[in-house]
Order: sequence, then structure tokens, then C-alpha cells
Amino acid sequence: MTAVIVTLNAGSSSIKFATFSIYGDALNPEPEFKGQIAGIDGDPFMEITVGKDQSRKEQLCKEIVGDHGIALDYLLNTIDERLGTYQLSGVGHRVVHGGAKFSAPQILTNETITQLEKFIPLAPGHQPHNLNGVKAAQKRWPEARQVACFDTAFHRTQEKAAEQFALPYMMTEEGIIRYGFHGLSYEYIASVAPEIMGDAPHQRMIVAHLGAGASMCALMDGKSVATTMGFTALDGLPMGTRCGDIDPGVLLYLLQEKGMSASELADCLYEKSGLLGMSGISSDMRILQESDDPRAIGAIDYFVHRTVREIGSLAAALGGVDALVFTAGIGENSSFIRKQILTGCRWLGFEVDDHANATNVGCITLNDNGPSGWVIRTNEELVIAQHTFHIDEPV
Ligand code: ADP
Repeated sequence: MTAVIVTLNAGSSSIKFATFSIYGDALNPEPEFKGQIAGIDGDPFMEITVGKDQSRKEQLCKEIVGDHGIALDYLLNTIDERLGTYQLSGVGHRVVHGGAKFSAPQILTNETITQLEKFIPLAPGHQPHNLNGVKAAQKRWPEARQVACFDTAFHRTQEKAAEQFALPYMMTEEGIIRYGFHGLSYEYIASVAPEIMGDAPHQRMIVAHLGAGASMCALMDGKSVATTMGFTALDGLPMGTRCGDIDPGVLLYLLQEKGMSASELADCLYEKSGLLGMSGISSDMRILQESDDPRAIGAIDYFVHRTVREIGSLAAALGGVDALVFTAGIGENSSFIRKQILTGCRWLGFEVDDHANATNVGCITLNDNGPSGWVIRTNEELVIAQHTFHIDEPV
């Protein structure tokens, strides 16, 4: 009987899964099947891909899959049916926040789950959904090993100066530091970059994970030395609906002078800002790119401007840059945004290759003597499956 690992990424509007087979002592990196339920808060649909086949989409009834708990049950039923005679060896979960305590994946026990619940205020849009996924999988498959893989863990290699805020030291000691996120994506890119880049220098690498959530990371020899996100996933680049970098004085003003409540402010910063808030049209870069509304154009200009500025900052943290990688929804698919960012970074030596850039894959720059730019598709599921598979091995 073939053993498999299931990965689960239970997010706010989608729940993604993949199954990876184990052959002897190796994990097949190509999933047997994968899929998601997306649009949970709006028009839910299920998407399943078997092997390399075309994905199959099925609209789901809002009344049936209208909330997270039911959507989770529905998805786990589907996985169960598909598992058939496979033997489930472990379930790997994406958990956004591991705090200062967890710098590596963990086997989930009731005690670990209780500790992870304490980080809910630090990632209110993600952590509760992630942990609901854990509990539902535990209940469904009590015999299988459940493993948490954290988005924060990859950044625990950073020096104190990169990790701290200039706040009273008691607050730092209490854990108010820059944790950083998207670590599973950075870990994947770091693992494949040497082979993809071959002889092209990549010791000092910047990875731009530009999706609905967006951040960047400076990697020295594959290890995180600085990143744009901080204590929560609000900081750094502007995102689909999140504000990114903001003067904390603005927050005081909104609270003290405008009479906003803390929950109104949270809703504004997490759900109503970013591309959506600036454009007043959409959080989706595809829609903004097609619009000639001045606010949509302004939102894109701001996104590019902040990304270019942060690349300068991360290049400074690395003492220069050898390679820049674009990944996630916008990074992998928008040649338009990549070109603008690379043009803004010409001073660092990047020269965009329009023809290569249009292909959305591989090296997209020309200058043999300067740093190189790349598009690499991220694969967080594979990183989660590998950690779940190898968790018992000594490090
Ligand atoms: P998440 O952070 O939810 O994992 P993704 O990495 O899947 O997000 O990115 C989703 C976002 O990518 C969409 O909201 C959209 O803005 C953007 N996107 C996807 N395809 C394109 C495209 N062809 N052009 C521009 N933006 C795109």
C-alpha cells in the first residue's frame, strides 16, 4: 500500500491541499492530486488537479459551503474519498505564526496547539483558520502524524539588529519583534535557486513574494538576513487589502483624533487598505492593470515605488545584490509589474530582457556583468510535505 502525506493550507478565503506519495525512503515531489476550495466568503468553488491533468473546477453551493467549518469538512471528505487505498502517513499544516519559540516545524500536540493559539492576535486573519484546519484534520485522521510548518521560522536566522524594533527593551524581551512571514516560500526558492541559476551568482539574493499578501526577503547563502514584514503580516509592501509600511503616528491620529475604535482600525488596515483601498476598485492586480482609472494607476505606481525602495533597503542589508527572484501570483504572472520594478532598479545594474520577461519563467534580465532577475514558481506545499516526511530525522 502506498503511503502519502497530505498538506493543508487553511486560509481566510481558501483551503488548499495536496497529496504526495512516499516511495521507499523518498517523497515524490509531484503531487498525486491537489486542489482547493476558494471563494469561501463569496462564490465558493472547488478545484481539483490529478497528476499533470488539467484542473477541474466545480461551483459549490453557497448555502452548503458558506462557512469555513463546513468548507473544511467538505474538503476533508473529498480528500478521504480520493485517498482510497493509500495509507495516510502524515498531515502537514501551514501555520502562519510560530512566534519566537518555534524556529523549526513541530509535531502537533494539544500543548503545542494551545501555545499556537496565543499567536492569534498577531495573525488574526490567518492563525485561527490554520488552527481550525489542524483540529479538523486531527479529528478526521487521529492516527496520522500532524505537523505544523511556520511562515515565521525561516527568519529566525536573522541578527538581533534586523529583528528588533526601537522600543523599550522590556517589550522586545516580551516578544515584540519583527518575525517576518512567507518563510515557506523563501525556503522553497532558496532550495531550488542554486540548480536553476547554475553559474549565475546568487550568494546575495532578494526574493520578492508578490501575491495577495506580499513581502520580500534578503538571503545571504540561502539564509534570511532581513525581510519587509514585521511583527504581523501588515508591515512592508502594500498588499491586496493590507496597508504595508505606515507611519505609526497615523494610527495614533486615527485612534485619538478621529475616534476610530481598535477593531475599526484593524479592519481598515487589514481589509480595506492596500490596492483595494487606494484604487477603490479591486484588490486584484489583474483588474487594476486593465483599468485606466487614475486611482488604479496610482495604486500600481505606489506598489512599484515601495517595492523598488525596499529592494534598495534589502540590497543594503546584503552589501549588494547578485540575484532578484520574483514569485507568487503577481511576481510569477505580471510581466508588466516586473518590468516596472526592474526598471526602477536599473541603478543596481538590472536590465530587463523584454522577450524573456514575457515568458514568465527563468532568467528575465540581459546584463551578464550585473545582477540577474528571475521568475521562479513557488511551491510551499512541497516544503510542508518534505518537513512532514523528515520530521523525525535528527538535524
Ligand atoms: P496568496 O497570497 O493568496 O497566496 P497568490 O500568490 O495566489 O496569493 O496571488 C494572488 C494575486 O496575484 C491576485 O490577487 C492577483 O492580484 C495576482 N495575479 C495573479 N495573476 C496575475 C496576472 N496575470 N497579472 C497580475 N496579477 C496577477
